[in-house]
Amino acid sequence: MKSNGKVILVIIDGLKFQTAVDQCGYLEALVESKKARRMKMIAVLPTLSAPIYETLHTGLEPVDHGITSNDNLRKSNSENIFSIAKENGLRTAAAAHSYFSTLYNADPYIPITDQEVNDANKPIQYGRFYSEKGYSSFNISLISEHDLMNQASMMIDRYKPHYLMIHSCSCDSIGHKFGGSSQEYSKQAWMVNDQLAQHIPFWMEEGYRVLITSDHGFTDSGNHGGSSNIERWTPYYDIGHPRPGVAKEKFLNSQSPLASCHC
Ligand SMILES: [Zn+2]
Repeated sequence: MKSNGKVILVIIDGLKFQTAVDQCGYLEALVESKKARRMKMIAVLPTLSAPIYETLHTGLEPVDHGITSNDNLRKSNSENIFSIAKENGLRTAAAAHSYFSTLYNADPYIPITDQEVNDANKPIQYGRFYSEKGYSSFNISLISEHDLMNQASMMIDRYKPHYLMIHSCSCDSIGHKFGGSSQEYSKQAWMVNDQLAQHIPFWMEEGYRVLITSDHGFTDSGNHGGSSNIERWTPYYDIGHPRPGVAKEKFLNSQSPLASCHC
């Protein structure tokens, strides 16, 4: 990847490979029209979110970077994309779950100071973080994908970050509630794709290479963390890849092109 390129990474939390292929019609259209390459990624173990967020940003596997559970989340102590970009004078941004603030900006996460960040001294210099807390009625926590993508495009417009990470959590939330083979989970993947379809053209116009993946898949019974194929197989779309189309090779997500990209 070019060292001067601007990159957006979208992590669609809990989106399994086959659901992406079946439901994400806009992303598949980019592959079919030779504007993007689609790869099948094999998630590292355990197939849990916080360990794999750190894997995607360091290239290290959980057993090596040390964040081995969502319950031992702490600030990253490894060289990571945000720290490398900042050290090289590049601008970073994220619209993401507060886990990312804890990993890269401030541990513990304190909403009053950390929820909205504009600070050139932090690894994530422009941050808009959400908690998913505060829903009482349906035993489910969600964010608006519409608001999330608008926040991301707003930061592109205002700050022109060299590296922007967007983390969408609704497929994971719906998957836990209804299961990975449910209509509700499929519809939510469709919804995320539909929101991306409204923003990716703008991001491409702004000169970004856009990478879209997920951290892990989902079991039919609504869980993840283990080593089954349905939990490990994840999609990886690379819009702007020099060899567009469907790739035959598979990669561990610790080997993602992003893991070796210094923006
Ligand atoms: Zn989950």
